[in-house]
Parts: sequence; structure tokens; C-alpha cells
Amino acid sequence: MQRRQFVQTAGAGSVLGALGMVTGCATSGGSGGPHVVVVGGGYGGATAAKYVRLWSDHGIRVTLVEPSAAFISCPISNLVLGGSKTMADITTPYDNLVRRHGVNLVRDMVTSIDPDKRTVKLAGGSELTYDRLILSPGVDFMWDTLPGMAKPGAQDKVLHSWKAGPQTVALRKQLEAMPDGGVYALSIPLAPYRCPPGPYERACQVASYFSKAKPRSKVLILDANDDVTSKGPLFKKAWAERYKGIVEYRPKHKAVDVDAATNTLKFEFNDEVKASVLNVIPDMRAGDIAVRTGLATANKRWCEVDFLTHESRAAKNIHVLGDSIQIAPGMPKSGHMANQHGKTCAAAVVALLTGKQPNALPIYNNTCYSFVSEEDVVHVASVHRYDAAQKTMVTVPGSGGVSTAANELEGRYALAWARNIWADTLA
Ligand SMILES: Cc1cc2nc3c(=O)[nH]c(=O)nc-3n(C[C@H](O)[C@H](O)[C@H](O)COP(=O)(O)OP(=O)(O)OC[C@H]3O[C@@H](n4cnc5c(N)ncnc54)[C@H](O)[C@@H]3O)c2cc1C
Repeated sequence: MQRRQFVQTAGAGSVLGALGMVTGCATSGGSGGPHVVVVGGGYGGATAAKYVRLWSDHGIRVTLVEPSAAFISCPISNLVLGGSKTMADITTPYDNLVRRHGVNLVRDMVTSIDPDKRTVKLAGGSELTYDRLILSPGVDFMWDTLPGMAKPGAQDKVLHSWKAGPQTVALRKQLEAMPDGGVYALSIPLAPYRCPPGPYERACQVASYFSKAKPRSKVLILDANDDVTSKGPLFKKAWAERYKGIVEYRPKHKAVDVDAATNTLKFEFNDEVKASVLNVIPDMRAGDIAVRTGLATANKRWCEVDFLTHESRAAKNIHVLGDSIQIAPGMPKSGHMANQHGKTCAAAVVALLTGKQPNALPIYNNTCYSFVSEEDVVHVASVHRYDAAQKTMVTVPGSGGVSTAANELEGRYALAWARNIWADTLA
């Protein structure tokens, strides 16, 4: 396959890392040529950093700014809560981006961006200049919608665990410490939020753990939405058949406050609920740095972009990816999608910095697997293409599909999907 085809078909590129088709280049970002700064080394940012280097034949210098020591994946993190996977299973070092691809990795946090001067300031005090900036800071939480969570210690006790890392470990410990017969309550915000099926998968994983270790315990799902937002019939079947008497699903439960001292959740219309372990996924929006830079133009929550290049509609030379963007219709906020944004954006940035036209027809694919037990999995898939008339991405009719039933074969595909996407993003 020609390099040009890779540049034009982000959807096909997921095989690249898995096939090991990389140059083995160990040179650093160097000092000449254009400079791209990438903010955030998650699914969107790490992919973009790698592919700008690859597709510019290492002619474009790339600096990736990321505070974490290693990449920790949210996909598969619910299995850590269920006890069948460990943090080591979902952690990948950034070494290949640096050694193989010559990305300049700076372990720091971007505190401000000056779009006019094309500079970013880092918490450590230094400043970087860029020709183009790629922002993939994920999500941050709208804590003001749950006033009680501002009380000292509240956020250490009532966890979200919606960014894989220390909170994943801490929630697992809370579940282990919970006495048999206790109630784990999971509060889900109104869509759109990161990973539509993720909360329902989490409920299955906790129920799977309870069914083996604490069979008198309950999983109570308190959903702000009118119904399960993804793969509804498949999740409901799992709750009714596999976790009968353990899982209870209550829709239309919009949380408006939390009393962390008593583990109590308060709702707009329903009676309050007290739980042994309270897991609250708050409303969310684009990452703080994107909001502070004035890029969150959709309801002050999400960043509108030109889907041909991912350039922000609010600031030139700044491209936004991943969960931070205002999604097109039918487009989930997922790691797979962020990876596809990363490749489309990398190709466009390379084109723009080398005097070429960006690809006029980007295509993305997305597969989202959910574990309903330790082994059995369901999926939903879709293909999205650019529509020039509507200037947005549209779902290709008839593309994708949804599982007919949970099964173990899909479980093996799901783990293979994770290994492939981690390789494509980081190898
Ligand atoms: C429990 C759970 C399960 C999920 N399961 C799946 C799944 O099965 N499949 C799937 O496709 N998706 C899944 N997702 C969704 C997926 O994790 C996200 O959609 C994906 O991580 C989005 O990528 P991103 O690059 O936008 O953000 P992230 O991957 O979160 O990366 C953002 C990065 O930016 C960094 N950052 C933030 N601010 C700054 C700053 N100012 N300076 C420097 N760095 C900064 C952060 O440290 C972070 O590393 C799941 C999510 C959750 C919570």
C-alpha cells in the first residue's frame, strides 16, 4: 500500500501499528522545519503526534506535552474494577513515540495558549512556540452542577473513575471493602458524555464481581437519560438473565447534588438514594485548557471544528481532537473515534505545512466493544464520511451493526481490538 493511501484513509490506518510498518527512526525532533505542539497524550493526541512524524517522513518536529508518566487506557479499565484485569494490563509507556518516532515528549501541563503569538506556557515555567497546535485534552467535569462535591474531601470519597488512573484503583478498593449486602450506586449524566456504553459496561463488571464475591449485594444504576443510551436491549438482557436480583436500572434520575459525608445522591425529581459505594459520573465538557482558550463554542462545552482538518472554528492554527469536540450526528465520544480524528488531523496538518490540499473525503470507522461478563462481549460499529454539502461527518447508511447476542468469541475480538489500537496509537 502506498503512503499516500494511508494519508487519505484514516480508517484503514489502524492496521499500520499492528503490522509493525514503522520506520524505526530514532532521530529526535531536531531543530529545523515546522514545529507541531500536541497537547495531551491520550487516544487523540498520541496518535496525532506519531502520524505527523510518520507522514512527514520525520520532516516536521513534534513536541507532545503530557503530564502522565505513561498512557493508561480507559477502554478495558472497567475490567480492572471487575477484577479480571490489572492496571498493568491497561498501561503502555510512551517509549516508542520517543525512540522510534522521534517525538519530543515533555512531561508537563499546558497552562495557557496564546493563539496570536502561537505560544503555549507550561506549568513548569517554560514556553513553546508552534506552527500548528493539536489539542486533545479529553474531558473535564462540570462540578458546579453538583455543589456538594466542592466540599473538602468530597471528591476523594465519591469517585467518578471516568479517567483511568488512580481513581480506577481507588474505586476497586471501595468495592473490595464493601460488605456483602451493600449497594453500589452508579450515577450517569445526560448524554453527550465520554463513552456512551461505558457506564452500562461498568454496571455489568461490578455485578459480575458481586455475583462471585458478594452475592447479596446490589448494583443500582441511576441514569439521567430516558433510557440506556447504547446497546440497550443487549445490556438489559444481561441484567435480566445474568445478574437477576443484583442489577436494578432506574432511568430519568438526573442527579443535582451529592452529600459525600453520607454517600447520598439527590435528584431533580426522584427520592434521594443512599449507597454503600457511590460512583458519580458528573456532566462533562471539553478539557479545561480548551475551554480557557475560548475554543468551546458549542454551549460553552464542546469545541466546534472543521471536520476536513480538525482546525478549531474559533482559532486559526489550532486543531482539536477527541472527546473535546462538538461531535457530528451519530459520532460517539470514544477512544476509537479519537484515534481516527488523530490520523485525519495528522494528515491534514502535514498537508497544510507542506503546501498541499488536505484530503477532501475523510472516512472514520468506530467499533465499541462492551464486556457484559469477564469473557462475553457485545459490540456496535459504524462508518462515518465527510459530507461536503453539510460540512460535517455523516454515518454511512448500512455501515456497521450491532451484536445479536453476547458471546466469548467477541470477547477475544475485543481484546484484540484493544491491543491493535494501543499499537496504532503508541507503537
Ligand atoms: C470506563 C471507560 C471505558 C471506555 N471504553 C471505551 C471503549 O471500549 N472503546 C472506546 O473506543 N472508547 C472507550 N472509552 C472512551 C475513551 O477513553 C475516550 O473517548 C478517549 O480516551 C478520548 O481520547 P482523548 O484523546 O480525547 O482524551 P484522553 O484519552 O483522555 O487523553 C487526554 C490527555 O490529555 C492530557 N491533558 C489534559 N489537559 C492537558 C494539559 N493542559 N496539558 C497537557 N496534557 C493535558 C491528559 O493527561 C490525557 O492524557 C471509555 C471511557 C471510559 C471512561
